[in-house]
Amino acid sequence: MKLESFSAEDFRNIEKISFEPSPGINIIFGENAQGKTNLIESIWLFTGFRSFRTMRTSELVREGQDMAKLSCDFFSRDRSQNAQMFIDKKRQVKINGISQETPRKLMGEFKAVVFSPQSLALIQGGPAEKRKFLDIAISLVRPNYAVFISRYLKIMSHRNALLRQMSRGKYKYNEKALEPWDYELAKTGARILNYRYEYLEKLSGPVKDVYEGISAGKEQISIEYSPSFKSPKKGEEAVREAMLEALLKSRDSDLRRQATGVGPHKDDLLIKINDLCARTYGSQGQQRSCALALKLGEAAVIKKETDEKPIALLDDVMSELDAGRQKYFLDFLEGWQVFITCCDPSILDRSQTGKVFEMKAGKLSPAE
Ligand code: ATP
Ligand code: MG
Repeated sequence: MKLESFSAEDFRNIEKISFEPSPGINIIFGENAQGKTNLIESIWLFTGFRSFRTMRTSELVREGQDMAKLSCDFFSRDRSQNAQMFIDKKRQVKINGISQETPRKLMGEFKAVVFSPQSLALIQGGPAEKRKFLDIAISLVRPNYAVFISRYLKIMSHRNALLRQMSRGKYKYNEKALEPWDYELAKTGARILNYRYEYLEKLSGPVKDVYEGISAGKEQISIEYSPSFKSPKKGEEAVREAMLEALLKSRDSDLRRQATGVGPHKDDLLIKINDLCARTYGSQGQQRSCALALKLGEAAVIKKETDEKPIALLDDVMSELDAGRQKYFLDFLEGWQVFITCCDPSILDRSQTGKVFEMKAGKLSPAE
């Protein structure tokens, strides 16, 4: 996977830029608030996911303008492709000139992983952040997974609406009305859990290797899935039965709280360093290394599963790593297409081949 050319118009503070990145390392440097993260964000949007910074799409359009336009040529799945994105209140996508019904169609075509200061929330944040990481990571290798997630959320919102109606007295004596929703939720929930278990099995090896490398073999990381209900056996059918049972058990409390209390939307990921919870006990450096290990692990799984190296988008990462960790990081990404933002490019080892750009007030120019 390589980004061959990229252009953006009226995207955040970027009025108009167009450039051809190096297939290796691209350094984008500049002072604070010049548009470096904006550029990383605009490239990320071609994965089909929402921004890693905001839920509000209209925020992406340059102040005073009606529409942001992004376009890129990329090489993926053995062919050159083109994608365009038009952003106003919504995002419209064209792939190879053909309009798509949803930006999700880009998933699986355009592959990237992003590491930004927000990635630390993966360790410091709550279960929702970890589920978001899993959901995005899995969708990048199994685009179908995103369909199950949105189906699950739809079923759950129907179920929750019914719970609300019941608690207001309607259907009071007919809890049976919940049964079809329980069944559908358990069916899709079990499918999602299956994807997650399968994915974690693939992820944990690379994450362990990377963490060992980053910590020079001194520490060990472990990742464990923590479900909101227990299933005595694995396998989709067994998990579905267990989830149905769990939904039945939590029905009274669900009716009281008018919300669904068990299922993959409640699950967590336990990340430990040397058997201690990274969120509670980890030092800042350890937490940062953990987040990096998860992200590099994610990249390694994409490479293994799709036979393509995703683009690595690294926002503001290097300045926070010591020289040894920087070296490990860049060695790991040798041969990948990388976009690194920083304020001071001199901290980076410039022996690596690639291109250097300066971002100034939303304008990008080649440096040197
Ligand atoms: P830092 O080094 O501090 O991380 P940066 O170069 O990454 O800085 P960005 O976050 O990319 O900075 O850009 C921030 C700038 O973009 C701010 O000045 C902000 O006001 C501007 N900006 C953000 N959204 C919009 C928008 N919709 N319209 C115009 N300007 C915007
Ligand atoms: Mg920034």
